[in-house]
Parts: sequence; structure tokens; C-alpha cells
Amino acid sequence: MSKKFDPSLSLEELDRRTIFHASTPLKHHASGELGSPRIIDSGSGIRITDTKGVSTIDAFAGLYCVNVGYGRTEIADAIHEQAKKLAYYHTYVGHSNQPLIELSRRVIEMAPEGMSKIYYGMSGSDANETNIKLVWHYWNVKNQPRKRKIISRMRGYHGSGIMTGSMTGLPAFHTSFNLPMDDIKHTVAPHFYWEAEAGMSEREFSRFCADQLERKILEENPETIAAFIGEPVLGTGGIVPPPEGYWEEIQAVLAKYDILLIADEVVCGFGRVGHNFGSDRYGIKPDIMTVAKGLTSGYLPLSGSIVGEKVWSVLEDGTDKYGPIGHGWTYSGHALGAAAALANLDIIEKEDLITNTNVVGEYFQAKMHEAFDNHPLVGEYRGVALLGAIEFVADKDARQRFAPDLKVGPRISAQALKNGMIARAMPHQDTLGFAPPMVTTKDEVDEIVAIAEQSVNEVMDQLFKEGAWKG
Ligand SMILES: *Cc1c(COP(=O)(O)O)cnc(C)c1O
Repeated sequence: MSKKFDPSLSLEELDRRTIFHASTPLKHHASGELGSPRIIDSGSGIRITDTKGVSTIDAFAGLYCVNVGYGRTEIADAIHEQAKKLAYYHTYVGHSNQPLIELSRRVIEMAPEGMSKIYYGMSGSDANETNIKLVWHYWNVKNQPRKRKIISRMRGYHGSGIMTGSMTGLPAFHTSFNLPMDDIKHTVAPHFYWEAEAGMSEREFSRFCADQLERKILEENPETIAAFIGEPVLGTGGIVPPPEGYWEEIQAVLAKYDILLIADEVVCGFGRVGHNFGSDRYGIKPDIMTVAKGLTSGYLPLSGSIVGEKVWSVLEDGTDKYGPIGHGWTYSGHALGAAAALANLDIIEKEDLITNTNVVGEYFQAKMHEAFDNHPLVGEYRGVALLGAIEFVADKDARQRFAPDLKVGPRISAQALKNGMIARAMPHQDTLGFAPPMVTTKDEVDEIVAIAEQSVNEVMDQLFKEGAWKG
């Protein structure tokens, strides 16, 4: 039998027969039950267009990464020029390339005080895998090999690898894979709306989170805790800005027990929250920072582990004991990724997109609060700059969520898509996430909020008619 596929098969059909998609019900995709795969053909600004010619506002910037918007030929040209000259050479044993050096200078200049060196990868997940190894190596060099455990938060997102998927605090990433691994522990999600006890102020809730962390540390034994990892703004777990005073409280506990802090800046980095980094906005002094998504705006895969002075000096000491560090990816410091990142940072700087994120972000927040704060289906609207989330509940007063099988979040997301906009149904509960590109204008915000409102209202009417929501 020939292994050749029938040349008359449509792209959609070929996709179903050959591609194993991320986060997809595999059976329903393969059978076609999930509907036709959507094949994206082109993009410009905040819009993408599929092969059927349907244009959609992408109010989630891909996976909150296309920060400078689609169709930026400046980045394409930079990749092209570099590819003609030198597409690739490895960075082992001191080899380097020009765009990588220039990029590193710029990122270190942008990064918070004390950040020192960057190890490059291809994804947020591999950068966090690197971080875990660096942390373990650090404590081994310091002759404290028992410090191995890493604490992350429930609903934190740190990637999809074995250790990073373990740190990710979402059951879908654990259950069928026998994760989390032993050295990963989780503490409370910093989400005031759901986790605060009755009568707590936001500030008191932050103290409560710090107390919970301290309890976990004592329960596990402080001498076994290597690091704490957190996103400045909790992302995939529901887009939750930290409660007031949260990072101050958390950092005090970490300092008390000599625990390293990894700020996972994969979403927040490079302007998404209106500052260079989320750490700048929230007064975080990380020992290591993870960057990826916004570094290239998704034009090529590139990530980084940015290591602060304190960790770096110990890694240097490690050379005497261990020799060359036993860590390396073939594509670390890829010249094309570096060229793309440089062109991306040029755009952010020239177009002053961090200011735009603050100005338009403030407008976006005001409009979303206006539309959803008192909406009968909405428990909470929350957000910062150009990040936002609407959380739907069945009963506002009782703070009761919908039955999961009603899939209210995914349904509203699907309705928004019908109405011409992508907003992401987040994996935790019924939450619709927004992260429009940093180039979004106020007029575009008006469009986004109008479609969101229309879509929520349409699904609310449907739920009411079906008797799934009482009103
Ligand atoms: C997306 C994400 C990651 C993982 O990045 P990948 O490139 O998907 O591996 C890690 N941390 C955070 C905060 C993320 O949002």
C-alpha cells in the first residue's frame, strides 16, 4: 500500500490526519467532530485572517505573545538579513554571534538592577527547566544539596515540561501524566475573589498568602526549599493581578528562609503590564527571571533565563568544583531569534509601545469595568494594563460557579469568535481572558469591549432559555 496521501485531500483533512495539536481533544479533532480546523493565513495589526478569508480581531495576541501586532515586516526583514549572513552557529564553549551580543546588552539594560547574564532557550518551558537546574546547581555549589524543593502557586503557569508542568498548578497538566514530581510543592493562588476569607481586606489577604507560604516552608523543612517561582501577574491560571502588598509579603518570607525567587516574566516581560517587566511594576527583586513570549512577539521562538548577580557569582564558583556547566541546548542563542528579538525591541522603543500599553490599557480597564462590574453573569472583572479577565458565575451573591459541564467560559469564547473576536477561555473555571497586542488603539478597545458585551449577553440569554441560569 502506498504511503502517499491522496493529493485531492483538503488542507483541513490533511491536518486532521497528520497533526497532533496542543490542548485539543484529540479524538474529536481527528474525527472532525470538533469542526473544521481553522487555518490561519495572514495577519495585520490586531487582526488575523484565515484561509477562508474570515478576519478576526485577536484580543489575545496569539498566546499573549504577539505584542507588536501581526505583519511587522521590519521583523521579517531583520530575520531575512541575518539568515543570509549567518542563520546559525552554536553558543557552546564561548562561541557567540553579533545579534545575540547586542540583544543581551539591551535586555540587561532593560532588566531590573542586579540582573547579570542571560542563558537562552527556545520556549518558556525550557527556560524554566533551565532555571530549576540552575537553582539546584546553585545550592550544590553552596554545599546545601538538601535544598531541592521548589514552591509554586496553585494555578501558576510555568510551562508544560516534566518539572515545569509540575510547577504549573493546574490539574489538566498533572492528572494523566502522574505529575507533579516530588520536589514541587504548591501554595495558595493569590486570588482575592476566591481565596480570601470573609471580611479580609486585600492587604490582609496578602498577609494570609504569605502565612500560607511560611506554613508550607515549615511543614517541608526550610532546609529543603530551594526556590519559589511566581508570575508577577498570574497568567494562564486566570489572569489575576496580585492583591495589594502581595509581593512585599511574599519576599519577606523568602528572605527569612534563604529561598531564591524566580520571577516568571514570560507574559509580563517587555511591556505587557506597562513597565519593562512585571517585577518593576510590583517591586519584585528576583534572583532569576524567565522571559519568552514578548521577547520576540512570537516572530521566532526565543526565551531566556536572566540570572542575577547573586546567583551568577555562585555559578562562577561552581566552575572550580564541577568544571564546565553541564547544560546546553543546540539552539541556545539562535542568531535568527536574536535578530527577531532586536527588531521587536526596536519597534517597542520607537513606537513607545510601553506608554501605549499604559494609556490604552487604562482606557481598556475603565471600559471593561464599566461593561462588566455590575453584569448579572459576572462575578469579577479584573485586569491590569492590557491584560484582563471576566469570570462568570451562576450566582453572584453566593459566589457560586457554573457546573463545569455547562462550559460557560468556552461557550462565550466561541460566541465571541462568531462575532469576530478571539478572547481565550482560560483553563481554570469560567474565565474569558484578554491580552490584546500592545499596539491596540482606543477605537479598537471600543470594538473589543462591544463584541465582548454582545457575546456575553447572547450566551446569557441562551443559558436563561435553557434553564441553566435563573437570572
Ligand atoms: C507560556 C508560559 C510559559 C511557557 O512558555 P512556552 O513557550 O509555552 O513553553 C511559562 N511561563 C509562563 C508565565 C507562561 O505564560
